[in-house]
Amino acid sequence: MTQMTLNKTLIVTMEECGELTRACSKIIRHGANEKPKYRDNLLEEIADVQAMLQLVITHMNFNPDYIEKLVDKRLDKMMEPGYE
Ligand SMILES: [Mg+2]
Repeated sequence: MTQMTLNKTLIVTMEECGELTRACSKIIRHGANEKPKYRDNLLEEIADVQAMLQLVITHMNFNPDYIEKLVDKRLDKMMEPGYE
């Protein structure tokens, strides 16, 4: 597999985030249970974004352990009473 340039990686990441945004919108508009295709599409777009994030992390030489710490911190914040 050839390595994408950083710019191309970031552009594809933006595109995939847009697709994930649209998939979330479809679930809100149509529900997740009525039509399995929207649920399936959300799952696919989550995977696409996760794949791109892995490439960005590698390109930027970010420390995965530090990212995990930031994720935990974010999740803790969202669990606080009164968080909306
Ligand atoms: Mg996609």
